[in-house]
Amino acid sequence: MRFRNEFPLPDTDWPPTREFWAAAARGELAVPRCDACRRYVWYPDGTCRFCGSHTSTWTAVSGRGRLFSWSVVRRAFIPQLAADVPYVAGLVAIEEDAAVRIVTRIVDCDPALLRVDMPMRVVFRPLRFAGVRGEVTAPMFVPA
Ligand SMILES: [Zn+2]
Repeated sequence: MRFRNEFPLPDTDWPPTREFWAAAARGELAVPRCDACRRYVWYPDGTCRFCGSHTSTWTAVSGRGRLFSWSVVRRAFIPQLAADVPYVAGLVAIEEDAAVRIVTRIVDCDPALLRVDMPMRVVFRPLRFAGVRGEVTAPMFVPA
């Protein structure tokens, strides 16, 4: 029986995103790239929306990007997040393709200083929750 992470940790064995989490564990930000037309396919759903190809290759990207949007979460909507608030949930558009926006956390900065389109860079941090066993290395972003 396979081990499945406890909620709300991501399921790192779920096939559509398994490679994303495996790359993060190695310290890489990876995005699937279509084998036929070479465009980035995000979210990873197995089919390229540009050309219809069903084959893609997870590809390490630079980890640089720009802040597309963010929200300061001040209330824990599930008990497991109570120890984390306030935190910043964000969308970061990667440098290689601004249409690829990674759902992430923005860390190590004063949220009041965040600006749309500001340069960001990836860092890898353990994602862990109070009362939940285990942790997952996740890509998060800091101002570059
Ligand atoms: Zn394609």
